[in-house]
Amino acid sequence: MSAEATSVPWLDAWTPEEGAERVRALFEARFGDGPPDGTWSAPGRVNLIGEHTDYNGGLCLPIALPHRTYVALRRRDDDRVRLVSAQERTGQRELELADVAPGTVDGWAGYVVGVAWAMREAGLAVGGFDVAVDSCVPYGAGLSSSAALEASVAVALDAVFGLGLAGATDDAGRSRLAAMCVRAENEIAGAPTGGMDQAASLRARAGHALLLDCLDGSLRHVPFDLSAHGLALLVVDTRAEHQLADGQYAARRASCEAAAARLGVATLREITVDPRGMEWALDKLDDEVQVRRVRHVVTEIDRVTWFVALLESGAVDAVGPLMNASHASLRDDYEVSCLELDLVVSAAMSAGALGARMTGGGFGGSAIALVRADSVDEVARAVHAAFTSAGLRSPAFLVATAQTPAA
Ligand code: ADP
Ligand code: MG
Repeated sequence: MSAEATSVPWLDAWTPEEGAERVRALFEARFGDGPPDGTWSAPGRVNLIGEHTDYNGGLCLPIALPHRTYVALRRRDDDRVRLVSAQERTGQRELELADVAPGTVDGWAGYVVGVAWAMREAGLAVGGFDVAVDSCVPYGAGLSSSAALEASVAVALDAVFGLGLAGATDDAGRSRLAAMCVRAENEIAGAPTGGMDQAASLRARAGHALLLDCLDGSLRHVPFDLSAHGLALLVVDTRAEHQLADGQYAARRASCEAAAARLGVATLREITVDPRGMEWALDKLDDEVQVRRVRHVVTEIDRVTWFVALLESGAVDAVGPLMNASHASLRDDYEVSCLELDLVVSAAMSAGALGARMTGGGFGGSAIALVRADSVDEVARAVHAAFTSAGLRSPAFLVATAQTPAA
């Protein structure tokens, strides 16, 4: 980064060696009875486009971040789980796997033991374990630290209990692991998220964006190498905290489900392929809020298709307007943006970004901007300055490239 950029906080990713070393040291210091069986890690993700579409059977397009969650894990002979995380100061947690069920585990431990629970529910032979966690994925920033945690635990348990799902040469085993991570998050951690985050963390490919079809879980790897085009993806963690976020996510999901029921379709995805077009569906809805929610979902799925078409034809620098349209739709029709996210988008665009949008669930979290590689610092500084003049705490910045999945 240039000298003038020193006041801008950059969130650098750890090297894999650094991450593994940190988590191994944490394991040995906290459990004090020898080394782990090994270390594993899984990336956070950033979604390029296709927001709030996963739980509607739609399309999304995430990449795996260089920022990863690391676990050091050791198999036990009993049913006990001991866990510790460098990010959670509450100390070590301990519980019996047999006691884990929906509604019984509070806090971060649910993301970990939930994975073991889901594996057992799937009939897999998984027992107790000791695990230490450390991560450079920013927490609650919309970059999916939760799925990074689940996926790192999933590949670790896969290895120590010999499940043979993570190393499969085809994608089927990883797809099963992702489904178990979704169950962990939905049923044990109690967060009603769709499947995008877990798929990105477990099934992405370096140098590619993951086009995920959430209707059937199928995917396509779309080449995504911005540097070859002189471009870069700037991610801005607004660090905004909005208390309402959880309830709002569930409310959006419920609204989409209600609209689908009213329209007589299983998911809103069906509207995108209906020969009568979107207007038919919007006309049939009498609830004005549902009209806007459906319009966002249907147009957003369309934007993913266009975005991929542009990437595949080499016109990467033409995706900007789709990003801006996505942001406007999320802000106006889906109503999940907030002042900070809007500010990132307007400041980045004024500073010359090709396109910008909020990413993730909304109400805080992160926004992305597609920028010329040589203007990363300039755009970051402009966003930083806009936050300072608005009296807001500075956001944090990172540059995203498409990296490897959990391993
Ligand atoms: P996001 O996935 O966007 O970062 P979430 O609210 O979905 O935000 O997930 C954040 C939660 O996941 C944290 O509050 C914590 O419970 C859990 N979590 C994520 N990473 C870790 C970690 N390294 N150690 C312990 N818990 C974690
Ligand atoms: Mg999450």
